[in-house]
Amino acid sequence: MTNNIIRGRDVARTIREETTKRAAALREQGWVPHLASLEIGHNPSAEVYVRNQKRVAEKVGIQFVNRRYPQEITQAEMLAAIGALNVDPRITGIILQRPVPHHLDLFQLQGAIAPSKDVEGMSPSNIGKVVYDQFVLGPCTSLASVEILRATGQPLRGMNAVVVGHSEIVGKPIALHLLAELVTVTICHHGTRDLAAHTRNADALFVAVGKPGLITGDMVKPGAVVIDIGINQIETQDEAGNIVKKLVGDVDFDSVSKVAGWITPVPGGVGPVTLAVLMKNTVAAVAMQKKAYEAAMRQ
Ligand code: NAP
Repeated sequence: MTNNIIRGRDVARTIREETTKRAAALREQGWVPHLASLEIGHNPSAEVYVRNQKRVAEKVGIQFVNRRYPQEITQAEMLAAIGALNVDPRITGIILQRPVPHHLDLFQLQGAIAPSKDVEGMSPSNIGKVVYDQFVLGPCTSLASVEILRATGQPLRGMNAVVVGHSEIVGKPIALHLLAELVTVTICHHGTRDLAAHTRNADALFVAVGKPGLITGDMVKPGAVVIDIGINQIETQDEAGNIVKKLVGDVDFDSVSKVAGWITPVPGGVGPVTLAVLMKNTVAAVAMQKKAYEAAMRQ
């Protein structure tokens, strides 16, 4: 099977170019996109994400500030901090870096971000709009995954897609975006009896679980589009026998790439596109805030 490796950076570049133009047009009208990242405690993996977010934000013309809060901050203090940013007119978008310390209620914190500034599209209000296909700010990873499928040029209508993983921020919204395109969608999870029986029927297979090697070549339909969303850090041996850390997805790339028509690598597949969608959302949030302000001024 001739397969095409879908390079996330190519899809991401197209999104970033459009976002850069939209951000410049808004800035010219006095609306400056300004993203606030909230980091609670110290987490080395969050640090890498924050650095990348800052780099890409500045590249497309979005101001970026990272605010650090102490590990022992209380839920009430964190809610107050989010409340202050919600009403700060200089801040147009808010990202809450994960993981948050165990004593905090992530769902409540996420839901406290004003929907118009929730650029990760994770608040219940923005997820609800995805159900109605009436969203401006959708969850970044799900939008990125569907954008990658579109980039293959495959006609979506009538396609059979299987989504493995049903989390509220990745698996479920992917299924909803696909339904809006008249794709026939099967969602698999922990309770699915025979995963391979479903995945073998997929023209497009989305995998968002967090288990390395979950999908192997014998589970994939020849020619399918395989979009690997999982990110797992594993330990492996290099040529000299040293233990080294490596990032892999949920898909066994070696066996699946021999069968699939298209496949995303990890790293370098969904990740860069997710980051580009985050920036697209940040600029879309400013446009939405501008529209709401102008409507209020007309009254
Ligand atoms: P999550 O909330 O832990 O959800 C994992 C899902 O996988 C759950 O719905 C779970 O179902 C399901 N699952 C567990 N074992 C399964 C199995 N054996 N067969 C089928 N389904 C199974 O994780 P998430 O936030 O959706 O993220 C999923 C993965 O994507 C993680 O590796 C994460 O790091 C990665 N991710 C990547 C990006 C990116 O930009 N590339 C962004 C976000 C997340 P049950 O609840 O029924 O157990």
